[in-house]
Amino acid sequence: MVLKLPKEKIYTFHKKDFEKMLKDLGMFEDFEKTTLKCHFCSNKISENNLFGFLKINKKIVSICNKVECSEKAIQFQIGEKQK
Ligand SMILES: [Zn+2]
Repeated sequence: MVLKLPKEKIYTFHKKDFEKMLKDLGMFEDFEKTTLKCHFCSNKISENNLFGFLKINKKIVSICNKVECSEKAIQFQIGEKQK
């Protein structure tokens, strides 16, 4: 099965842009304070386990890279598209 990622909504992780991306999203402070958590499993988000960001009800949330969480994120995006 091939899932197409809707690029405009999932912010994929690129290490060198990581800090800038967090700042752009207004989440850098939370990240610095390590209060960023995965929206689905509440895992603490670090540079090493970040899958990406998702926009849910106009709020940006972070998603960890566990298979279940990244799949949920993708499913959520697909659901949003079909509305
Ligand atoms: Zn997670």
